[in-house]
Parts: sequence; structure tokens; C-alpha cells
Amino acid sequence: MTVTRATTADVRRYGAYIDGSMTRPGEHVFRRENPGTGDLVAEFDRGDEATAAAATASARRVFDEGSWSTASGQHRARILLRLVELMRRDSEKLARIEADETGKPIRLARGDVQGSIGLTEYAAALALTTSGEVHTNLGDGFLGLVTREPCGVVAMVTPWNFPLLLLMQKLPFALAAGCTAVCKPSELTAGTTLEIARLLTEAGLPDGAFNVVTGAGSVVGDHLARSADVDFLSFTGSTAVGRSIVEASAGTLKRLSMELGGKAASIVFPDADLDKAADGVLFGVTFNQGECCVSGARLLVHEDIADEFVRRVAEKAASLTVGPSTDESADLGAMIHEDHLNQVLGFVDDARAAGAEVVTGGERLTAGALADGYFVPPTIVDRVAPGSALFCEEVFGPVLAVTRFSSIDEAIELANAVQYGLANSVWSTDIYTALTVSRRLQSGTVWVNTTIDGAPQLPGGGVKQSGYGREMGKVGFEEFTEVKTIQIRTSV
Ligand code: NAD
Repeated sequence: MTVTRATTADVRRYGAYIDGSMTRPGEHVFRRENPGTGDLVAEFDRGDEATAAAATASARRVFDEGSWSTASGQHRARILLRLVELMRRDSEKLARIEADETGKPIRLARGDVQGSIGLTEYAAALALTTSGEVHTNLGDGFLGLVTREPCGVVAMVTPWNFPLLLLMQKLPFALAAGCTAVCKPSELTAGTTLEIARLLTEAGLPDGAFNVVTGAGSVVGDHLARSADVDFLSFTGSTAVGRSIVEASAGTLKRLSMELGGKAASIVFPDADLDKAADGVLFGVTFNQGECCVSGARLLVHEDIADEFVRRVAEKAASLTVGPSTDESADLGAMIHEDHLNQVLGFVDDARAAGAEVVTGGERLTAGALADGYFVPPTIVDRVAPGSALFCEEVFGPVLAVTRFSSIDEAIELANAVQYGLANSVWSTDIYTALTVSRRLQSGTVWVNTTIDGAPQLPGGGVKQSGYGREMGKVGFEEFTEVKTIQIRTSV
């Protein structure tokens, strides 16, 4: 295990990014320590309302003057592809910043950078190829045009679990459409968002077309929700904060997109390839140490195979490595902070007290290189009661809640018996079972014989309390546009 300690000289200090340059950090800052080592890695300016107002005014001015919003699709595509080149050049630096601030293993952070590059390439392709509609069948003497205009200034409020990847599910699509933007990243993990702002300036984006303000959600995020300069607010985060943004923004009638919490189920039928399913279920719940909105946090398994299947998942879990972000071999990193660690373990303790069986894990890891961080091992809790907190609530840690079912109908009922509807996975080699279950699951995404997968072409988003709106894909791009109808009388 390689653990490299940071020194004070490594601490990155950031201000806000407004009008194409970084401001000096003010007197009040957020100090960020790597949650796996305790090392100070970054300081972010604690932005106030005035900083947020300057950023939105900048994005508004640039949008209205038209240097970006009326630029050709070819020009926008070129700038985005230049960003792709710069992200490739700086990919290791971006991955290190992401790993330092989130505590996720460096290998995962590298994957996030590659995923972000793929999203930007796809958005560039959309910028170049999108067109409107022409209607020639409206009757003699009429022509109809349906155009797509950029929807204006977009505010992006993002969480700490995938700071770069979740930004890039929004930003290149918004820029491809001709929007300008202001981002309020999580106060814990703002580094890569600020680095992207720098790279976009280097790529040739007009100054002010993308601005970043760091700070508290209740100050900067709330300002963006209420701001009349913002036309569309695209939020990714918890359901509770999503609700407060809906309320705060109501007076402005701005458009909203809400990517909120989840409690995905992996549903395993006896006819599945059980070894592959066990790998998938384990990956689903441990990916990004479970700090993932689409984490496969519940295992619904047929009673005929349940004992054997749980044993197999537990056996595989024992081979995973938990370590600090610098550990090249780590599969799971640290929890984002100590309160979150305690909350995750609290869910396990409560389930145990209520009669569930902790098969493996469930206790904080503190040995050796893990002593200074907030580490939770892969944890499997069997015989979790439907309706209990561990079954219903988002834990956001590597904790698998196992519940058994005896029929397809019961599996579907259990999967849908939570307030969330972001994603689910079905494991079966029977086409009838796989499709029947997929069609009846209440979630924005269903994976069949795979999990936490995706591609830039495929939209993602939620139903029920997981929110509304879609990101990625053509549909995600179109969210950043307004449709305009132009009807023309062509003869007098
Ligand atoms: P969070 O809701 O606490 O914070 C998200 C962002 O909102 C942060 O930037 C925060 O500063 C800001 N914020 C906080 N209070 C605010 C307010 N009153 N007004 C405006 N902004 C405010 O979420 P988190 O803890 O950073 O991230 C974890 C949550 O994000 C989980 O619930 C997870 O499921 C969700 N998430 C959802 C998706 C998805 O695509 N659906 C993806 C990743 C994470």
C-alpha cells in the first residue's frame, strides 16, 4: 500500500472564478482535509451574496451580448473539443485533486476524469449536429420552423460525491446549447470545478460564460435559486435541499432540474448467472464506497438462492481493499467526513438492534494506514425488514441491505416500496422476467445484468422523490434549450 503524505506547500488555495479569472480568496475560507489522511489539501473562499451576484451578472451580460449564445455550433464544438484536449493533458492533476478532496481511490478518480472527457466529446458532437424542424405540410402558403434556442443563464448546484463527473453531466451540454453558466460546487470539493473554469478560459470560452462561486449552500446556493438573472437551475444533491431550492426559486418561476437521492435495488432471480450477479451486486454497493446516488444499496434476492448468494457476495467482499485515496490498489476510500461515517454506522447499529443480521463489516476500520481516516468496510446486513430505515433511507455508504422475496410480483412490490426512483438492477437470464420487471420498476434507469453503467448517449434522472429532469443524451442536451415556433405566411 502506497501512502504519500501531503505537505503544506501542496495546499491549493482558490477564490471565486468570475469573468475569466480567479479572484483572491477572502478572509473567510473553507478548509478541506483529505478524509482518508487528515491532511489539509485545499482552501476555498467562503463566498457571499455579493460574489454570487457578481457571478450571475457576468453570466447574464455575456449571454445577452451574444458572443457565445449566437456563436455557430461549429465554434462551440471546437471550444469543447479544445477543453477535451486540455482535460487529457491535465488528467492526472484533475484526478489527484478529485481524490484528495473526496477521499475516493485515485483509480476511481481517474475513471471520473475519463468519463467527463467522454461527456464533453459527446456534447461537442451535439453542438455541431443539432438542427431544428421545418414543416412544409401546413397548407398552401405556410411554412413552419421549430427552432431550439439556448435557454439562458444556467445555475448549477452540485454535490461532493462526484464533483467533476456530475458537473460535466451538465456543463458541456449547457455550453453546447449556447447557455452561459454559474456553478456553486460543494464547499467540500470545489477544486476540479475551479480547474475546469481555468481550462475553459484557456480553451477560448468567452470570459464570464462560465463562473464559479464557492461557499455555503444556504448563502450562495440560495442566492442562485432566488436570482432573477438565472433562467434555469440544475441541481444535483439531496432530496431535502432540492425541496428547499424549489421553494426558494418559486417566486422567479425559473425552470428547474432536480437530480436527487436514491435507494436502488439489485433484484436477483434464481436463473441469473449467480457469479456475475454477485460481482455486480458487490460492485453496485461498494462503487465510490457507496457514496453514489445510484448505489445498489438493497439486495432483493429470491428465497431459494438467498443463503448461498449472500455467502458468495460476502466471500467476494472480503477480497476488496479499503485505503486512502493515494493507495493505488484501493477499491473503497474514506467516507466524506466524520459525521457521515457515524451516520452510516448508525444505520447498521439500528438495524442490528432491530433484529437484522450483520453478515460482514459494520465497524469502523482504524488499523495501520487507515488510522487517520473515516473508513467503513463493505458491510452486508441480512434479513432487513421492509419499511425499516435501512430498507427505505439513503445511507450513502458501502452497506448492503438484504431482503428476500418469493415471486416476481413481490420483488417488484419491494423494489417500488421506497420514496425514491432513480435506478434499479435486474439480474436474470430469462427475457420474460428481465423485461417484465424492467417495465414495472418505478425508476428513471433500469440495468439488466449490469449495474452503475452508462454512456454519454443515455439519459439519466429520477422519478418520485428522486426528482425530475434528465441529464445526458439528446434529451439532456435539449433541457438546456427553449423551443420556438416560427409560423410564416409565404404568400399574400
Ligand atoms: P446536499 O444536498 O447536501 O448538497 C448539494 C449542494 O447543494 C451543495 O453544493 C450544497 O452546498 C448545496 N446546498 C445546500 N443547501 C442549500 C440551499 N439551502 N440552497 C441551495 N443550495 C444548497 O448533497 P450532498 O451531501 O453534497 O450530496 C449527497 C446527495 O446528493 C445525496 O442525497 C445523493 O443521492 C445526491 N446525489 C444525487 C445524484 C443524482 O444524479 N440524482 C447524484 C449524486 C448525488
